[in-house]
Amino acid sequence: MEKIRARILDWIETDRAALIDFLSRFVAVPSPNPPGDTRAAARFLLAHLHAHGVPAEIRSARDELPNIVGSFGTGRPHLVLNGHIDVFPAGPRESWSSDPWGGEVAGGKVLGRGATDMKCGTAASVWTYIYLHRLQETLGGRLTLTSVSDEETGGTWGARWLLETFPDECSGDCLLNGEPTTPGTIRFGEKGTLRLIFEIDTPGAHGAYTHQSRNAIRIAADLVRDLYGLEEMHAEVPDAVRQAIEASRTAMEQALGRGAGEILSRVTVSAGVIEGGLKVNMLPGHCRLEMDIRLPVGMTHAAVMAEVETILGRYPEARVTPVWTHSGEPTFSDPLHPMVGILRRTVSGLTGTEPVPAVSLGASDAKHWRRHGVPAFLYGCTPNNMAKPDEWVDVEEYLHIVRTHALAAASFLAGGK
Ligand SMILES: [Zn+2]
Repeated sequence: MEKIRARILDWIETDRAALIDFLSRFVAVPSPNPPGDTRAAARFLLAHLHAHGVPAEIRSARDELPNIVGSFGTGRPHLVLNGHIDVFPAGPRESWSSDPWGGEVAGGKVLGRGATDMKCGTAASVWTYIYLHRLQETLGGRLTLTSVSDEETGGTWGARWLLETFPDECSGDCLLNGEPTTPGTIRFGEKGTLRLIFEIDTPGAHGAYTHQSRNAIRIAADLVRDLYGLEEMHAEVPDAVRQAIEASRTAMEQALGRGAGEILSRVTVSAGVIEGGLKVNMLPGHCRLEMDIRLPVGMTHAAVMAEVETILGRYPEARVTPVWTHSGEPTFSDPLHPMVGILRRTVSGLTGTEPVPAVSLGASDAKHWRRHGVPAFLYGCTPNNMAKPDEWVDVEEYLHIVRTHALAAASFLAGGK
């Protein structure tokens, strides 16, 4: 493994300029979702893979959302690399200090929408696949690349579709994904989501005739207050996960700011949208609420919905509709899985600092693999200005992510050596 390690690091050093140029050009192919047309970005990746002589092809459930799949080798272990091609929309051009689709390289950074989430990580998968293809005889096992579209809107036509349609090829024994995590943490699990829409209807009336109807906005205000009470629910967290969450608390607070450690093992509630009322002197007869609820590992949709129904019992004018297409249970893999050990050793060998296993606050495509019973792990860059204007990734950090993915994938295929 020492020889293989040296060769991989040597290739990355030789390709340094090409690696940076690749990420810059990848960022410069717009792939915002919504609206979600990733054909140009997928063509860019495919051309790059073919130029390096590795097997890869397009598999699409929807024409405008192509996925790239490539595979080589046989038998086990079978490692799957996954990253998404689509990115958040850029928003107004004037809120950016450089072109969000420029892929500018300046001051040791690659700038633009998607630089961190997650063209850095997807680039790491692509280069890992290319490098390990050169070593396939030496390494053994099987490596599959999946670069997907549709992650930003839940993965229905990307990861989920690939796993359902090509399970033998795309599931594997383990998944490695380069979503932004910060280099100090490896993510082995993620919180669940539950999106709920509430509609409140009353007869309504003239604003002066408050005796004639209950006010739908007033009911919504009370309902929102009660829904925030869900944050007190207690989750039964498995021991290994609880210990990992405790051990990662400091690293998570460093990565995501103070308070992040606290909410990892708690339900959080966010009232995201409220709409109601037509005119100030009319007593509103309708109000609509959209609530975003996040579930820690150990909590279930069923438990939260039971509480929601209890709350609704106090509000006969209100009804709830869960948005199941944008809701998912929390998922986790074993924090002591061999891939976690490989990633820890690999990073500590590169930087002298060992990353800690942690749970993500947000969702990723890893959940689709976990639901198929495949252990799935994330290791990626710092999410600088993720989902905000002026997104950027540090060039050195990007190269570190490429090195880590290539070395960890090689080690996994070589049986953990
Ligand atoms: Zn992402």
